[in-house]
Amino acid sequence: MRFSVSHALAERKTARNILVQAVGEDGRAGWGESCPRSYVTGETIETAKTALLCSILPPMINTVSSNMHETVEFLTSELAGLERSRQAAFCAAELAVLDLAGKTFGLSAGTVAGPIARRRVRYGAVIAASSCAQVRKYAALIRLFRFREVKVKVHKSLEQNVKLLETARRFLGRTVVIRIDANGAWSADEAVRQLKQLSRYRLAAVEQPVSAEDIQGMQQVTAAGLLPVVADESLCSVHDAETLIERRAANIFNLRVSKCGGLINTMRIYRKAALAGLGCHVGAQVGETALLSAAGRHLATRCPSILWCEGSYGLLLLKHDIARPGITVGVGGRARAVDRPGIGVAPDMRRIARSVTDVTEVY
Ligand SMILES: [Mg+2]
Repeated sequence: MRFSVSHALAERKTARNILVQAVGEDGRAGWGESCPRSYVTGETIETAKTALLCSILPPMINTVSSNMHETVEFLTSELAGLERSRQAAFCAAELAVLDLAGKTFGLSAGTVAGPIARRRVRYGAVIAASSCAQVRKYAALIRLFRFREVKVKVHKSLEQNVKLLETARRFLGRTVVIRIDANGAWSADEAVRQLKQLSRYRLAAVEQPVSAEDIQGMQQVTAAGLLPVVADESLCSVHDAETLIERRAANIFNLRVSKCGGLINTMRIYRKAALAGLGCHVGAQVGETALLSAAGRHLATRCPSILWCEGSYGLLLLKHDIARPGITVGVGGRARAVDRPGIGVAPDMRRIARSVTDVTEVY
């Protein structure tokens, strides 16, 4: 990546992702991607690879499907009993199969998320900084690109957060929407204490104030009603969604295709949220290529009630992207719906060859 990105749970300087290529009988290929994260679904590149080779890919090999509907039915049946700790692995395989089926049947993989509801969407930016100087650098770029929404990663210390948000608000101006993401840095009491102080910066939402497994804490912060609470690390599976809804432990879900087990499972979560009156926003993985960004774009443009979008940063963050056409957001965070057959972008094989460190073929 062009620069390192850090938050309360991780620091990342390079992108290390899983790609799955599904090859049809006619030689046509579909591609999928995921970014396994140990602090999200509990997966690493290694465990995801093992899950793909041992259990996820074997039932998909030599499966015949005569239309998109059959493909979606098959993938949906494969989701039954999928553990949370294999969801990112499944995502890479699912997107590859949807891409292949979409190219074969002449349909966008995005059809699993319904018809296009909005041809144009706007993405927001993310500030992941630990010093005011870094915030100023990010803010200068964000103003240059005229993003209207920004998510600021916050830290454990209230003092540090006050300084970062003071700087962000001063340099971004009054009209930019600012949300914060604590990545589980606080206890529930600490979250309430900090939110009382930080709300003077006119924040739109707080994401994952407490650790992923602390549902009672999420419930407590939501009940405090200081800011809308977004569930991110707490929300990966359909079961997570049901728990959060039942216990009123969030107001908004952060949908990220990789952690949520692919497009079909993400849509199941989205529909549960919509039925329960919760909002959703489209999130992204740091270091994702245009493949995962395209999957996120389908959600952003096809789900009618998406509040905010993140991701599609492509070459703004990566030194080189592997897929074409580029779908990196433009000035103002503007982006268009992707409506080509399959996932809508395809890897450049020369770039793949330069990036790939480990290949396994399965027949
Ligand atoms: Mg988050």
